[in-house]
This record gives sequence, C-alpha cells and structure tokens, in this order.
Amino acid sequence: MSNIDLTNRYKSMNYRRCGKSGLKLPELSLGLWHNFGHVNVHENSKSLIATAFSKGITHFDLANNYGPPPGSAEETFGKILNENFKSYRDEMIISSKAGYTMWDGPYGDWGSKKYLVSSLDQSLKRMKLDYVDIFYHHRPDPETPLEETMAALSLIVQQGKALYVGISNYQADEATKAFKLLKEMGTPCLIHQPKYSMFERWVEDGLLDVLQENGVGCIPFSPLAQGLLTDKYLHGIPADSRVATSGVFLNESNLTSEKLSKIAKLNEVANTRNQKLAHMAIAWLLKDERVTSVLIGASKPEQITDSIKALDNTRFDKEELDKIDNILAG
Ligand code: NDP
Repeated sequence: MSNIDLTNRYKSMNYRRCGKSGLKLPELSLGLWHNFGHVNVHENSKSLIATAFSKGITHFDLANNYGPPPGSAEETFGKILNENFKSYRDEMIISSKAGYTMWDGPYGDWGSKKYLVSSLDQSLKRMKLDYVDIFYHHRPDPETPLEETMAALSLIVQQGKALYVGISNYQADEATKAFKLLKEMGTPCLIHQPKYSMFERWVEDGLLDVLQENGVGCIPFSPLAQGLLTDKYLHGIPADSRVATSGVFLNESNLTSEKLSKIAKLNEVANTRNQKLAHMAIAWLLKDERVTSVLIGASKPEQITDSIKALDNTRFDKEELDKIDNILAG
C-alpha cells in the first residue's frame, strides 16, 4: 500500500501465547463479519485492513458466510490481500470457519465432513490462498457425531489446508469432548471463539477453566456487544451506527432503557479510569490472562486506532471490578 506506513507495525502491539501452542496472537484481532461484503465500500474495507495491520494487528478473522452476500467478505479480503499485502502473508494469521448455513441442500450446513471439507475448499478459492492459519467449526451440530466433525478438522490439517483448528460457540462440556478427540487424533485444538463481553458472561461459568486445563486459547467475539458497549448510543442512534444501518443482528429493540442505563453507568466508571467505555470493555476482557486476543469489529479505520488505546490500561482494582459487577447485576 502506498499511502499507509507499515514501518512501526510491531512497535506497540503485545502478542499473547495462544493456550499452550507455539502461536502468539495480537491482543486485538480484527473480524470481518460486517463491513467487508460486496454491499460495502471497497476502499473503506481496504483502509480497515491496512490500518489494523499497520498497528500490529496480524490476525484477521473470517467465515464462509460473512458478507453480505455470504462469501463476499472472503472475496473482498482475498482481493485486498493479493493486491496490497501479498508479500506479508507470512506475517498474518488468517482464519475462516464453517458451521452455519452456506449453500442449499443437506451438505451446506452444520458439521459433516462433506460440508467442512468442501466449504474450506471454497473459502480458499475465494481468498486465493493455499491454506488458512486457523479453521474453525463455527457452531456445534447436535446431529453429526462429534467424532466426524473433529476428524474433518484433523483431516484438513493433515491435508495442509489449515495449520491449526478451533471451535466456536461450543459449551464447556462439548468443548471438553472435542478437545479430547482432537488430541487423540494428533491435532490439538488451538483456540475457542466464544461470545464474551460485559453483557455476555456465560464463559465465566466453566468454559474459561476448561480452556486453561486443556491449554486452549480464547478469542472472545463481539467484545463491544456489537457497539453497545461504547458511548455512541447514549444520546440517540447515530445514522452511521450498526443499529441504524444493519438492523439484522442488532436493532433498536436491543437498546432498552435498562440497557442504556447500564451503559451510562459503565461509561462513568470508564471515565474515572480515564478511558472511554469502548476501551474499558476491551480492557476488561484482557485483564484475564486466559484470554489470548479480543476479536473486534470496526466500520471505520478510526475505530481501530481508538480501540487500540484500550491496551494502555488493562488493569482493574477490586473496587472497579465490584462497581462493574454491581452495575451489570443491577
Ligand atoms: P464488536 O463488539 O467489537 O462490535 C464492532 C462494532 O462496534 C463496529 O462495527 C462498530 O459499529 C462499533 N465500534 C467498534 N469500535 C468502536 C469504537 N472504538 N468506538 C465506537 N464504536 C465502535 O464486534 P463484532 O460484533 O463486530 O464482532 C467482531 C468479530 O467477531 C466479527 O467480525 C467476527 O469475526 C467475530 N464473530 C464471530 C461469531 C461466531 O459465531 N464465531 C459471531 C459474531 C462475530 P458501528 O460503527 O457500525 O456502530
């Protein structure tokens, strides 16, 4: 890229070891769920990738179905990578996933070997890559035997189409079984990707312990609860916000008065720490060493630069943590 300075990309980012693996991930990673579809402005998508990479964010998270339309985020990313960052491929950790509905018929969804293997082949073509660094099973499949799904992940690594594998949205007990199977197959699970934020704390009830016991990393998604854990909705709904522009996964009904009151109180705690709420929400996840990397999204390059400021202070004293717990419980 001619207009972005990559010189200092490793000067300020910290990298954490992913579980007990050899791989380190940046404390912040960038997800391409929103803002990278064919419906989005390509130049903005390019700026998002360039800004992230120039700040040491080496990890880019995709899935087969990201867009819209499904598949288009991988195409956008592949184009940006090939046109601008081809020589940096070995400095990047690129992930994709399969597990949600991707194509018609019985082979385009859930967790069969047929679906996972064909889907990754399609993802590699869309991104014009030989391999991804991490391939995830996106959600548990209640019907396919776990042995088959895990064997598919292991096969994909043996075939050289992924270097590591992960699981996403698995509860603690299912995750434990998956880790055991993968270990027996000689393909240890690298990472788990759960939804985790101040507003969504289920992982604290067993999953984080299971991850630590098994030496598996953790990369929480939607750390800002899709933007709710920022100060942007405190005075109405900005026209360029996800609530106003997307409306599918986040809409006005999520902005209850109870939620807004909690956001306002959390915002006050953040200000006493000299942080914005977005910074505190990210820092609050990184205070736990079991969290390897926090997987943010961004609609504008400035949001990436802003969110990185969270890394300046990831320590909390007991009084602050109690205050936050009380607000969330209220
Ligand atoms: P976040 O909770 O970080 O929300 C991101 C959104 O918040 C942005 O698009 C922007 O929305 C707003 N925002 C970001 N930074 C700031 C800031 N500094 N100040 C104010 N607003 C800000 O994460 P996402 O929900 O986007 O998820 C992140 C990634 O997690 C995805 O891209 C995907 O890779 C992964 N994911 C995985 C899932 C799974 O099942 N495994 C499911 C969902 C996500 P705006 O400006 O539009 O209001």
